[in-house]
Amino acid sequence: MLDKRNFYIDGKWVKPVKSNDFQVINPSNEEPFAVISLGSKGDIDFAVKAAKNSFNKWKETTKEERINFLEKLLKIYKKRSDEMSNVISMEMGSPIDYSSSTHTVSGQSHLEDFILRLKEFNFEENFESKSNNHIRYEPIGVCGLITPWNWPINQIALKAIPALAAGCTMILKPSEIAPISAMLFTEMIDEAGFPSGVFNLINGDGDGVGTHMSGHPDVDMISFTGSTRAGKLISKNAADTIKRVCLELGGKGGNIVFEDSYPNAVRDGIRNVMSNSGQSCDAPTRMLVQRSIYKRAIKEAADEAKKIKVDVASKKGDHIGPVVSKTQYDKIINLIKSGINEGATLAAGGPELPDNLKKGYFIKPTIFTNVTNDMKIAKKEIFGPVLSIIPFETEEEAIKITNDTEYGLGNYLQTEDTEKAKRVAKKLRSGIVYINGKSADAGTPFGGYRQSGNGREGGTWGLEEYLEVKTITGWK
Ligand code: NAD
Repeated sequence: MLDKRNFYIDGKWVKPVKSNDFQVINPSNEEPFAVISLGSKGDIDFAVKAAKNSFNKWKETTKEERINFLEKLLKIYKKRSDEMSNVISMEMGSPIDYSSSTHTVSGQSHLEDFILRLKEFNFEENFESKSNNHIRYEPIGVCGLITPWNWPINQIALKAIPALAAGCTMILKPSEIAPISAMLFTEMIDEAGFPSGVFNLINGDGDGVGTHMSGHPDVDMISFTGSTRAGKLISKNAADTIKRVCLELGGKGGNIVFEDSYPNAVRDGIRNVMSNSGQSCDAPTRMLVQRSIYKRAIKEAADEAKKIKVDVASKKGDHIGPVVSKTQYDKIINLIKSGINEGATLAAGGPELPDNLKKGYFIKPTIFTNVTNDMKIAKKEIFGPVLSIIPFETEEEAIKITNDTEYGLGNYLQTEDTEKAKRVAKKLRSGIVYINGKSADAGTPFGGYRQSGNGREGGTWGLEEYLEVKTITGWK
C-alpha cells in the first residue's frame, strides 16, 4: 500500500493538521492501493498563507525565468511519463496503453503549448501607437485549483501550467478519488525547483477542503473542473469574496449523423463515446441519426459496441477499463435500468457485468435506440459507456434536438456537404463543434456554454484566465 498521507506546503511534504486517512481504490479489482489524507480547514489556511507569501516574489519573475522553470518541468515530465501512465491506470482504471497514449501525453502537450504561448505573450503593450495609455497584464494572485478524476493530469496541466506561466501562486486540490497522479506531478514541481510556496497541494473532499478554499478571503480565483452540481455550490460560496470563478463543467454532447456522412461515421462515433469508458465531459453521448439511414446506423452501432472489449486496466492492448468507483458504477447501472424502464430499445450491452469479469466496476458498452430527447438517458450526464440513439428527419430538427439540453460543451456533426457542415456548426450552442471527427489542435480554447461552464482553458485564452488587465494613463 502506498503511503501518500502528506501534503505539499511551502516547498515541503508535511503531515496534515488532523489525521484523516482515506483509501484510494483500484477500480479494476476494487482493492485499495494507496492511502491519502483528507485535509481540513487548518491545512488550507497553511497552504493559502504559503501561496500568499510567495506571490510577491513570484509575480516579479521575468517571463524568461518562468519559461526556464516550465522547461525544466517538461524535461522531468517526459522522464517520468511511464510512472504517470501507471498511476493513472491504477487510480481511475484507464487501460495502460490508453493512459500513455492519451492521458499522459495530454499533460505533456499542454506543457509544451503553454511554454509556446508564454513565449509569444506580451504582458505590456501601448493602447494605441500615439496614446500615452499603457496596458499591463498582471497575475491575479493566489489561485485555488480544483480538479476531477476523469482526465486527471489533463485537467491539472490545463490549470497549474497557465497559472505558473502567468506568475500566480496556487493550491491544487485534486479529486480524492484519483489523487496519486497529482502527487506525482507535485514531486515533479519539487524536482524542477519552483520557489517554495508557489505550488501547494492539499488532498481532500469538497466539504472538508473545497468549500473552505472557495470561500477563503485570501484566494483570488478558483478554477474548477467537475460536475455542474459542485460548480453551482462553488459559485455561491465564492460570491461573498467576489473572487473570479472559472468553471469547466459537465456535458451531454450531440453527434448529428446526416445521411451524407462519411462511411465510418457511426462506428467512429461509437468508439469515441466509449473511449475512457465514457467518462469524458465532451463525449458524444446522444447520437442523432437521419431517418433515411437509421436502420443501417443502429445495426452498425450495436455491432461496433459488441466489438469493444472490456478488461482490467493493467492489461495491454485496445480495450476499455472499468468506471472509476462504486458510486459511479451504481449511478450508471441505475440510469441503464431507467432507459429500459422508459421504453428505449437496448441494442447492445446492459446492466450485467461483462462475461469475462467477476470483480471490478466494469460496464458493457451499452447502446439504446429509439430514444426520445425527453428520456432521462438523453438528458442526464451518465458518464459511463452508454449511448442514446435518436432519429431525426431534417437539419432544423437535428439542430433543435442537439441544443435542447441544459449543457453546451462539445457537439459533433458528420456530413460530406461542407456548406451544410459550416451552417450547422454555427447554430450549435456549444464551446466546441467537431466536424467529421477532426480533433482540436493544441492551443485552441476548450470550455462550455450554459451549464457546461463559463471559462476557456488551453492556449492564450487559458493563460488570460489567470491575468488581471490594468490600464495606466500618462505612460511616457
Ligand atoms: P465532482 O464535481 O464530484 O468533483 C470534482 C472536484 O470538485 C473534486 O476534486 C471534488 O472533491 C471537488 N468538489 C466536490 N464538491 C465540491 C464543493 N462543494 N466545493 C469545492 N470542491 C468540490 O466531479 P467528478 O465526479 O470528480 O468529475 C466528473 C465531472 O467533471 C463530470 O460532470 C464531467 O463532465 C466534469 N468534467 C468537465 C470537464 C470540462 O472541461 N468541462 C472536464 C472533465 C470533467
